[in-house]
Amino acid sequence: MLNSKTVHFLGVRVDNYRLREALARVKFFIDSKQPERSSRKVYFTNVHTIHLARRDPQFFCTIHNADLVLPDGSGIDLAGRILKRPVKENLNGTDFMPVVLRMAERYGYTVYLLGARPEVLERCVERIQNDFSDLKLIGYQHGYYHQQEEGRILEKINRVRPDILLVATGSPRQEKWIASVSDHLEAGVCFAVGGLFDFLSGEFSRAPYWMRKAGLEWVHRFVKNPREKWNRIVIEIPLFIWLTMMNRLFHSSFHQS
Ligand code: UDP
Repeated sequence: MLNSKTVHFLGVRVDNYRLREALARVKFFIDSKQPERSSRKVYFTNVHTIHLARRDPQFFCTIHNADLVLPDGSGIDLAGRILKRPVKENLNGTDFMPVVLRMAERYGYTVYLLGARPEVLERCVERIQNDFSDLKLIGYQHGYYHQQEEGRILEKINRVRPDILLVATGSPRQEKWIASVSDHLEAGVCFAVGGLFDFLSGEFSRAPYWMRKAGLEWVHRFVKNPREKWNRIVIEIPLFIWLTMMNRLFHSSFHQS
């Protein structure tokens, strides 16, 4: 739900937390899970999801009704500076989720993975078991199943009742799915994590550290995969910045008049 940390970019919700605050929220969600309470929903807002939400009212409401929405990527960071509402930390899923897994390892929280291609998921599981040796990874399911299998998958997850469920089937499908099942899902907290398993498995490489620090990971993704990322980088980012600047111009002239 909305809280005092919530800001909006082109009308779409982002919760402006520092890493430590966001982790504390996640821990609270898990520790306060009651059997009759629906699973908590955590999403990441980036330039792409903002465009999707502006075109799709159902997705807009899905984000609006989440329990936590974290700022993901340099586009949001830049928009924060343009609007003079600086984003405290870029909490993109690829950096944030390993910290959550480390916390899960420390507190003994159980984890379930849903999404990605079967072979990518297998490699992701191997890597996680290797890198987080004490983590209780209690199940996984790839994301290429028929819609008719959804009920069976939900049952499979509910049987093991994970504290943390990571759903990686792409936006807006993953967020809408979490929202539609959260009342019947026996998980403490569900994260919509997009391409996370592709990165954790090594299928896609991260940008070098200096590029990530400079907010240039998008350049690396574009160079590695220009056909797939063309629309997001060449069209969506400039359009987002343009609309944000118009928004700022309109609001400052509105406030001056
Ligand atoms: N995916 C899936 N099932 C599908 C379509 C996609 O599990 O039917 C997975 C895909 O393999 C990839 C992830 O969803 O691992 C989507 O990654 P992307 O970076 O495109 O996520 P987005 O940024 O769109 O949320």
